[in-house]
Amino acid sequence: MTCDDAAAFLGPVGRGELAALDRPVTFDDDSAEQVAALGKDSSPTAYLFVCLHCGAHLAYSDAL
Ligand SMILES: [Zn+2]
Repeated sequence: MTCDDAAAFLGPVGRGELAALDRPVTFDDDSAEQVAALGKDSSPTAYLFVCLHCGAHLAYSDAL
């Protein structure tokens, strides 16, 4: 978390959805190799949130 503020859940995402975002995503763990394996419909999946305070994207992977 960057702001320690509320974040809205946007939905499950894979590497394609993450690549299409207009700004970088902060993961809860620094593991770029995991990102390459992410699939929206197949594990590992990331769960995307947007910070309601600053608009930053945050993601959590179920494989980390
Ligand atoms: Zn924020």
